[in-house]
Order: sequence, then structure tokens, then C-alpha cells
Amino acid sequence: MNEIFRIAIDGPGGAGKSTIAKAVAARLGIDYIDTGAMYRAVGYKMNREGIPFEECPQLRTMLDSTDIDFVSGDIILDGQIVNSLIRTPEVSLLASGCSALPMVREKLVKIQRSMGNRKSVIMDGRDIGTNVLKDAEYKIFLTASAEERANRRFLELQEKGTPQEYRAVLEDIKQRDHNDMTRKLNPLAKADDAIELNTDGMSIEEVIRAVLDLIK
Ligand code: C5P
Repeated sequence: MNEIFRIAIDGPGGAGKSTIAKAVAARLGIDYIDTGAMYRAVGYKMNREGIPFEECPQLRTMLDSTDIDFVSGDIILDGQIVNSLIRTPEVSLLASGCSALPMVREKLVKIQRSMGNRKSVIMDGRDIGTNVLKDAEYKIFLTASAEERANRRFLELQEKGTPQEYRAVLEDIKQRDHNDMTRKLNPLAKADDAIELNTDGMSIEEVIRAVLDLIK
């Protein structure tokens, strides 16, 4: 494939978007852009610098001097690799909080569009098919029930040695679903022209194959 093509993957938290997008990117030899990681990086930095989670001059100043990029799969915030710092349950909520702020979305969507216009990419998030890359060649909406998503995250946290109670993980997923779907600006939604894939009961390999089949 020589022409530039973009694959947009949206869906609720814990549906497996990043695992699938990363694997599909590797198999197709294209870049993977994890937009959730960008909101996580901003939420993490706002919290670290004590910036209020509202539209205010301090936030404007902070965003103007914030640099976010991906290099070889690592997310770089102001020159520092922050991969593991942003993957905590606390930062999940900070990301969800900052993602409702128009200033934050405006800044990140601009960066995402410029990343998606230069080369073939697979980009995952909540508003990629509906807003960031409205004209993407392929759009997929990846879902799974809240219980299945909570169970996957519960096992993942156990494996990482940072276990949490299943109930708490499920509550966190439901809270984020609610925040993502009810926020005024670019809420989580399936684009009219996206193909929905419910991954309940499917293995990772089965989902990767299903996505590759859709793209062929
Ligand atoms: O996908 P991930 O769980 O890493 O995303 C963290 C948070 O960032 C989400 O809960 C959501 O609120 C926000 N987000 C967003 N728009 C995107 C990607 C993520 O609002 N395109």
C-alpha cells in the first residue's frame, strides 16, 4: 500500500483499543498514535504543577509551553519519557477530568490532526472517527461490556503486581464511561460510518484478525 490511509479506533476505556491498535500497526508497518496517552500526560502535568482543572490563565500558559510527542512508541512529555507514570488509576481520572476542558482538547486535537495528515497511522481514542480524523479511510468502534472490560483490567493489574478489588475497577470503568459519554465537547460516540466490533468473549488474536479483515 503506497497511499496514505488512516484507521480510527474509538471505544470506551478498557475495550482493548491500544493493545489491538499497537498490534495492527506493527503488522501493517504504520505508526500507532495513542491519543488517550496524550490526555493522560496533560492530566498528569496539571496535577504535578497544581493547575486547577478548569479553563484558567495558568492552564493556557502551561499548555503553551507543553510539548507532547511519540518517539518509537514512547510518549514524550517535555522531553521526558512518561509511559509508566501515566498508567495509574489516579492518572486515568485526571485524564478524564482534563479531557472535558476545551483548551486541552483544542491543543491535543491540533497535534493529533497534524500527526494524522503526514503519514499512514492508526489512531485510537474517543473522538477520532467523529472529530479528529473525520475523513479516516477506516473507522472501527471497539466495545465490550463493562463487566468484561473490568475483568480484563483486574487481571492486568494483578499481573503488574498492583492489584485492586474487582468492584473498584468496575466502578472506575463505569465512572469513566459516564464522564466520556456525557461531556459536552466531543463525547465518546460511534461515528455513523464506523463499524462496530463487540469483543466480548474474543481473544486478542481474534480481534486483531477481525480488524485486519475489515481493512483488507
Ligand atoms: O484511552 P485512555 O483510557 O488512556 O484515555 C484516558 C482518558 O482520556 C479517557 O478516559 C478520556 O476521558 C480521555 N480521552 C479523550 N479523547 C480521546 C482519548 C482519550 O477524551 N481521544
